[in-house]
Amino acid sequence: MKEDPLVYTVKELCRTCYTCVRGCPAKAIRICQGQAEIIEERCISCANCTLMCSRQAKKIKDSSAAVIEMLKGRRKAAICLAPSFPVEFCDTDPLRLAGMLRKAGFSFVNEVSFGADIVSLQYRKLINENPGKKYISSACPAVVSYIEKYHPSLVGNIAPIVSPMVATARIMKSIYGGETEIVFAGPCVSKKREAEKYAKDISCVITFAELRSILEAMDVSDRNSVDSFFDPPYPAKGVLYPMGRGLLSASEFEEDLLSGRFMSAEGLDEFTEALKNFEKGDIKADFLDLLCCDGCIMGPGIKSGKSRYAREEILRAYARSKYFNMKIGEWEDYVTRFRDMDYSAFFKTETAEKDAPAESEIKKVLEKMGKINQQDELNCGACGYPSCREHAAAIIKGLAESEMCLPYAIDRLKMTAQELRESYNQLTSAKQALLQSEKLASMGQLAAGIAHELNNPLGVVLLYSKLAAEETEPENPLRRDLNTITEQAERCKKIVAGLLNFARKNKPVFKKTDLGLLFENYFKVFKPSKNINIEFSREGEVFAEIDQDQITQVISNLITNAFEAMPNGGLIKVEVFSQGKFAFFTVSDNGCGIKEENLKKIFEPFFTTKQIGKGTGLGLAVTYGIIKAHGGAIMVESNADRSKGETGTKFTVKLPLEREKIKENAELIKNAGASKEKI
Ligand code: ADP
Ligand code: MG
Repeated sequence: MKEDPLVYTVKELCRTCYTCVRGCPAKAIRICQGQAEIIEERCISCANCTLMCSRQAKKIKDSSAAVIEMLKGRRKAAICLAPSFPVEFCDTDPLRLAGMLRKAGFSFVNEVSFGADIVSLQYRKLINENPGKKYISSACPAVVSYIEKYHPSLVGNIAPIVSPMVATARIMKSIYGGETEIVFAGPCVSKKREAEKYAKDISCVITFAELRSILEAMDVSDRNSVDSFFDPPYPAKGVLYPMGRGLLSASEFEEDLLSGRFMSAEGLDEFTEALKNFEKGDIKADFLDLLCCDGCIMGPGIKSGKSRYAREEILRAYARSKYFNMKIGEWEDYVTRFRDMDYSAFFKTETAEKDAPAESEIKKVLEKMGKINQQDELNCGACGYPSCREHAAAIIKGLAESEMCLPYAIDRLKMTAQELRESYNQLTSAKQALLQSEKLASMGQLAAGIAHELNNPLGVVLLYSKLAAEETEPENPLRRDLNTITEQAERCKKIVAGLLNFARKNKPVFKKTDLGLLFENYFKVFKPSKNINIEFSREGEVFAEIDQDQITQVISNLITNAFEAMPNGGLIKVEVFSQGKFAFFTVSDNGCGIKEENLKKIFEPFFTTKQIGKGTGLGLAVTYGIIKAHGGAIMVESNADRSKGETGTKFTVKLPLEREKIKENAELIKNAGASKEKI
């Protein structure tokens, strides 16, 4: 049967701080998608996580409504208060508290400390009758649960004696009758689970906080109640149980350093460490008294702003007043009456721990978190686990996530920030490139329209100027003028042809061509002036599917530009190579370079820095159109500033090797090259 969780997380309040993971002695808190979740099978119900969580995201199952119902019922109800009650109710006189509880409807009000006295006697008997056997106290249910789940081999060492709560309940039932409902109020949440095992003895367990809310709900306060005595039997030293070493003192087990027969450990770290060492055989004591909290006075069911030491003082003061005012004879009578009842307990193993993961698995997880060497294991504890290896083991067991590692998370964040920055830059340049190509495309349309319209009238001008020149005598001065008209009209025709080229409507004819060979053929006809050197290098044959005429035109445009950029001579370097699915060629020169502000404009039609009559400003525009039609890209790097080093320009042309891939490649180019491309 699945048990109701005693402690649970309110997800909306949880803020991934891992404080609860760090504090949980049973590592029963799983972080799943950044949210803490209590794993019922692993939880020992110590509820320390409720104390640690500053956001109050951990809640304890509340039974106050059930108790209020019980008080309204026909059966008699009795309440027994855990020995730590003077700490919780330090501002209320114990007699007044007893009066308040009676007013609330409890027919009997008892102290669990007397049950502790009885249990102490049982411990003495057990130790005396079993010399050489080693025992662990069973008073703290969280410790018992921890042993059952995480040290099953020690279950046989748990003293087979019920806790003071159960002993008291049995005594109360024997006095008030078996029908009486027994309610236990204390500082402990784990007692709620323990009581399920002893349902015959105990009807309900509430925390002191719940008891306060019951009194409030029933409008019971110290002002509207009268004093009343607790019901006997009254306790002796059992009052000391909720402090560290309290059980030893109440049982008169001297914690003698010389013999080391009796030992105590309290607190989350201490008790788990003590058990580990007890199991290893490092602890030789005959009796080990363990408390999960720093004494029950620090339990999660107590609401107090006082320090541990202040709480101990309050308890000690109460214990003294009880001890020195007790009626020994009466106490002995009660002890004689109840000492021989059945206080035996049994415990079960309940292995909650899976086998430890293999070393190779741990290594793999550590590596995933960037912990390759031992120095990378920072063991900073930010994840809530004491070491990186324990964190890795928890990841393997499905209890933790790698994101819990702070250094790892910071690294990942840094990487993500860097990636974001890069993709932002890429997007910016892609956006610019897009704007530029849109601009060029609309210019192309306009240019094509104008060129088309101009072509016919120009043809007519040419025809008639030629005819008129032929009909004019050679010595007639008109003939010279007519020739000038023809020349200029021809120049116009060239420009118009260039414009049509830029806005190229006619489809390229693709053919597998060795790009290097194309250059070599070009250089056969290109005759540079003497002071220009050409350095050509090619990486074997680079076959690409291209339109030979168009790419030759590109080559010609680039080489001419390089040549024109070096009026005083220089070096033109050409390289042809391939990389992946692309062919590349570069044309570089050490000429004047392109000014930064012009770099964006050079692909626009009619942009030229050359004198009138020399440049048309169409070479690169046409080049751009051709490369685009090939599904390629053209990049430019240039320096025109002498102070920054040697001036010069380098054009890089990238062309897909195969036609079918063009579409796919166009995408690739857009994504990969966008940051570098200047178009
Ligand atoms: P044009 O050569 O007719 O001026 P282009 O379109 O070929 O037209 O070139 C446009 C402009 O780009 C040139 O006027 C020049 O300013 C610049 N340019 C192109 N290539 C180079 C180069 N290799 N070195 C310096 N400037 C260049
Ligand atoms: Mg040019």
